[in-house]
Amino acid sequence: MCAATAGYRGRSVLLLEHSNKIGRKILMSGGGRCNFTNLHNSPSNYLSANPHFCKSALSRYPAARFIELVERHGIDYHEKTLGQLFCDVSSKEILQLLLTECDWAGVDIRTDSTIYRIDKNADGYRVKTSAGIWQCQSLVIATGGLSIPNGGATPFAYETAKQFGLKVLPLQAALVPFTLQPKDLEVFKPLSGVSHRIRASIRDTAFVENLLFTHRGLSGPAILQISSYWDPGAEVEIDLFPELDLLQWLGEQREERPKADIRTLLGQQMHKRVVQTFCDLWSFEGPINRFDSRQLAAVADAFHRWVVKPAGTEGYRTAEVTRGGIDTDEVSSKTFEAKKVAGLYFIGECLDVTGHLGGHNFQFAWACGDAAGQYV
Ligand SMILES: Cc1cc2nc3c(=O)[nH]c(=O)nc-3n(C[C@H](O)[C@H](O)[C@H](O)COP(=O)(O)OP(=O)(O)OC[C@H]3O[C@@H](n4cnc5c(N)ncnc54)[C@H](O)[C@@H]3O)c2cc1C
Repeated sequence: MCAATAGYRGRSVLLLEHSNKIGRKILMSGGGRCNFTNLHNSPSNYLSANPHFCKSALSRYPAARFIELVERHGIDYHEKTLGQLFCDVSSKEILQLLLTECDWAGVDIRTDSTIYRIDKNADGYRVKTSAGIWQCQSLVIATGGLSIPNGGATPFAYETAKQFGLKVLPLQAALVPFTLQPKDLEVFKPLSGVSHRIRASIRDTAFVENLLFTHRGLSGPAILQISSYWDPGAEVEIDLFPELDLLQWLGEQREERPKADIRTLLGQQMHKRVVQTFCDLWSFEGPINRFDSRQLAAVADAFHRWVVKPAGTEGYRTAEVTRGGIDTDEVSSKTFEAKKVAGLYFIGECLDVTGHLGGHNFQFAWACGDAAGQYV
C-alpha cells in the first residue's frame, strides 16, 4: 500500500522482501478469504499505549477507501458477521490488487532479498542486502510482527528501531488461543471441537462471541479477542449464558417442570456435552425441585461466572498478531516517520497498535501504508 502510494507520486520505489513470496499473511488470512476490513472500524478497535495514535491515519484512510479500491478491482465480497468483509472467492485477489497497484505505480519488487545492514549517511540510507546494495532517501520498515515465524515473520522491525535508538514496548502473542492447566485440560479436552456462545471478560473489557474447546485449551473468536488483553497469570471470566438470566429461567423451569433433571433443562440452552461436563465438575444433578433458591442461585452464578486461569497461550506459532511493538511516541501519527530519525518510517503491525479480530489489523496496515506513502 505504501509502495504503490509513493509510486503514484512519482517516487522511485524498491520493495524488498526476504522470503520468496510477498503477502503471505494476506494469503493465509480469513481462512483463505482475507477479512480485509471492517464496516464498523474505529479507533476503539485498537490496543496501544497511546489509543489516540491510530486516529489520524484511520480518519484519512477509513474502511470505505479500501472497499472502494476492492470494488474498483472487481473483487466480490460479503459481510460475514459484525461488519467483517471477506472476499467471496480468495485472499489471492487482495494480494493481486496490491501487486497490480504496485505495477501501475512502477514499484520494483524484489523477493529473496535478505537485509544484512542499514547505515544512515548524508544522502539517506544505505541498505546492504543479499541482492545488492541500495541507496535511498526514505526507508520504510513494514516487516510486521512475530506471529507465524515459519511464514516469514522476523523481529527485523524491532531490531531496526533499536538500532536507531527508538523504544520498543514489550511484545506478546495476541489474538491467540489459550492453553489450559493440566487439570482443566483433562476436564475440557473431551469437548474438543464444540463451540458455544459466551461472554469472555478481563476487568472491564468483554467480548460476546463463540468459544471453541480445543485439544490444547480454548479458542474461538471470543477467546482470541480477550487474549489480546491477557497477561500471564491473569484470570479470564467467562459467562456461559451471556444472553440469559439463568437464575430467573431456572426459577421458571422449577415452577413448570419440577421433576425435570437440571441437566436436561440446561441441555435446552447449551450443547448437552457442555452441560454434562460442567455439571460433573460442579456436582449439579437431580430434579430441579430439589434445588432451593440458594442452590439455584449457586448454579446460575457458576455458569455466569466461570473463572479460568489459562496456563498460557499457543504463542507466536498460531497467534494472528503481536501486541506491543515500536512505541508510537517515537513516530509521527501523520507521516509515520520516526521523530528523531529523519527519513526512517515504520508502518503496520510492528508498531504498538494491535487491532481486534475482524479486519481491523489489515485496515490499520492499509491506513498507515497510505499515510506514509504520501510523505516518503
Ligand atoms: C493466520 C493469520 C490470519 C490473519 N487474518 C487476518 C484477517 O483476516 N484480517 C486482518 O485484518 N488481519 C489478519 N491477520 C493479521 C494481519 O495479517 C497482519 O496484522 C498484517 O498482515 C500486518 O501487515 P504488515 O504489513 O504490518 O506485516 P506483514 O503482513 O506481516 O508483512 C511483513 C512482510 O515483511 C516480510 N519480512 C519480515 N521480515 C523481513 C526481513 N527481515 N526482511 C525483509 N522482509 C521481511 C515478511 O515476509 C512479510 O512479507 C492475520 C494474521 C495471521 C497470522
